[in-house]
Parts: sequence; structure tokens; C-alpha cells
Amino acid sequence: MKIGVYPGSFDPITLGHLDIIIRASKLVDHLVIGVLTNISKKTIFTVEERVRFLNWVIKENNLESKVKVESFNGLLVDFAKAQNASFIVRGLRAVTDFDYELQLAQTNHKLVPEIDTIFFTTRLEYSYLSSSTVREIASFGGDIKQFVPECIVQSVYDKYKAIGSV
Ligand code: ADP
Repeated sequence: MKIGVYPGSFDPITLGHLDIIIRASKLVDHLVIGVLTNISKKTIFTVEERVRFLNWVIKENNLESKVKVESFNGLLVDFAKAQNASFIVRGLRAVTDFDYELQLAQTNHKLVPEIDTIFFTTRLEYSYLSSSTVREIASFGGDIKQFVPECIVQSVYDKYKAIGSV
């Protein structure tokens, strides 16, 4: 059975992430989305919120039989090994992603040679899209509907209302 792990912060999930999830889930038998909890950058959404949003999106897209969502901390390769994964899935938007992603993939390959990283290049319409863009627009009350899955839109606005930024 081919298992892939797609790690990230997903703060929050965007349509760019969803596109990678859909495409990667066709390539492997099972895809585990790994939501990072130990990153040094502070996230706006708690890990519970980020996992909840992903689960809504998985359900809405009828991917429950192929895709599951887990949070993890520690080394990505340890998480991937614990999930019996043979692949790590990452997305590449622009050349600016490349240096960092290459370094990450090569380091992970050194640590665990049995696990390979697969890159999906972004679809053109999402190449500019990042969670930070979504956060910035939402923090000013702007329209995020074309950037994130419909089912999380209201919750993103609610979060910014709760923290008092809109
Ligand atoms: P990280 O903090 O690890 O970069 P992100 O949640 O920002 O986590 O991204 C997770 C993965 O999804 C990364 O491989 C990133 O390059 C990819 N990704 C993010 N946005 C897009 C997009 N718009 N199109 C394709 N891949 C993307």
C-alpha cells in the first residue's frame, strides 16, 4: 500500500492546498495530512481549528476514504515513518519555494533514504496564493471566498472578529 504524507501549517487551508490534496490522493492509496504543531512561527489558528477545517474540507470533497488528518510535532521523517509512508508530498508555487523545498527534501532523504519527496507544481490560478495572503485579507475584512474552501470562510472571519481585528 502506497502511503503519502502531506505536511504543512495549513494556517488556514487554501484552495492551493486543496488542489494538491486532490491530486496527491490520486497518486497514493492513502494520504495523511500532517498538521504541524511545533513550528517556531506563531499560527493564528490553533492546531484544533486547523485540523477541524481540513476535516470539513475532506468531508465536503468526499475524500474521507482516502485522506485523513493528523497533527504532529517533532521531525517530519519520524511522523512519516510512524504513518508507514513512502512519500512526502509538497507543493511548489514559484521559484521562491524551490531553495527551501530542495533543502528540506534532501535533508529528509539523508535522514530516511526510503522516503522520497514528491513535488506537485501549483495550478496557475493558485500560484500566488498562500495562507498568509488569506490571513492578511481576512484581517481587513476583505473577500476571501475565491481563496479558501467555502465551508471555512465564515469560521475564518469569526476568528478575526474574536481576536478583534475586524
Ligand atoms: P509550510 O509552513 O510547511 O510551508 P504551508 O501550509 O504554508 O506549510 O504549505 C504546505 C505545503 O503546501 C508546502 O509544500 C507549500 O509549498 C504548499 N502550498 C502552499 N500553498 C500552495 C499553493 N497555492 N499551491 C501549491 N502548493 C502550495
